[in-house]
Amino acid sequence: MNTTAPPPGDAGALGATRPLLVRTAAELAALGSRLLAQAPATDGPRRLGLVPTMGALHAGHEHLVSAARAENDVVVVSVFVNRLQFDDPADFERYPRDLEADRALLASAGADIVFAPEEPEIYPGGAPLVRLSSGTLGEKFEGASRPGHFDGMLAVVAKLLHIAQPSSLTPVPVEYSAYFGQKDAQQLAIVRRLVTDLSYPVRIRAVPIVRSAEGLALSSRNQFLTPEQADAALVLSRALFLLADRAAAHEALMIDEAEDLIGSQPLVELDYLEVVDPDTLEPLAFNCRETPFTGGALVLVAARTGQVRLIDNMLLGDAAD
Ligand code: AMP
Repeated sequence: MNTTAPPPGDAGALGATRPLLVRTAAELAALGSRLLAQAPATDGPRRLGLVPTMGALHAGHEHLVSAARAENDVVVVSVFVNRLQFDDPADFERYPRDLEADRALLASAGADIVFAPEEPEIYPGGAPLVRLSSGTLGEKFEGASRPGHFDGMLAVVAKLLHIAQPSSLTPVPVEYSAYFGQKDAQQLAIVRRLVTDLSYPVRIRAVPIVRSAEGLALSSRNQFLTPEQADAALVLSRALFLLADRAAAHEALMIDEAEDLIGSQPLVELDYLEVVDPDTLEPLAFNCRETPFTGGALVLVAARTGQVRLIDNMLLGDAAD
């Protein structure tokens, strides 16, 4: 007879409806190892995919989870609203939270485990003393208007990547991947540098932006837009598609015209529209204004409509392949 006590929480019932909810790193390690060990044997390693989120899940997140589901034996989704990446405390307080709705979406997307820690589990000593710096990559664009945002993001992503990594005690080799949305292109570039600079044993997978039928990039913040604001915000993706079409046709991008298009919408206040290198985020001085476009690039845009800050971006030319 097996007298071993089951681990706490949902984790005791492996046959229970997925995703199984765990609240602590110890529960996650125990459950993750058990599910990996139970995955059907193949010639290659078992595969674990992590999808970090702040909850308030929508079809964009669902797409991330589906991508992870297609490539992994075990899919872990973390749901944690990270105080450290909010420069405005009021924005942190009003950030939407609904774990039951999130679990329902994750069930249909096929996640195995949802890791929803309380704050002390992630920051046991309060705000962490030892911090990572996103350097020059984190100072520009979103970092310029949200000081500390990317360092705060790194604090939690570095920790989550570490907590969710397959235990060295797992008796089978495991390939570890983490999934991030192209929607947050600057975040993606910084996370890639984190993994390269600190030799994290994880493969970073980028997932394309999911948009509404009209073109608006899905975001948990879109629910704060009035119908008029949501309609006005479509001008951002229109500007991006205009530039993508020109890049694909090897025409000059004529950025000023895209800026004018956004400027023509009175409800939208443009912060920046810039064509950059996708890895370094350095502006491409040439190749974007009057000369024919060649190669690859990333165009970043941010704007405010009412109280809501919106970001969007598009990979151009070869970078979009
Ligand atoms: P968040 O919960 O906003 O921190 O986002 C969690 C992850 O989902 C990040 O990697 C985001 O880039 C990604 N994500 C958010 N919105 C979208 C979207 N519209 N399309 C694709 N990925 C997204």
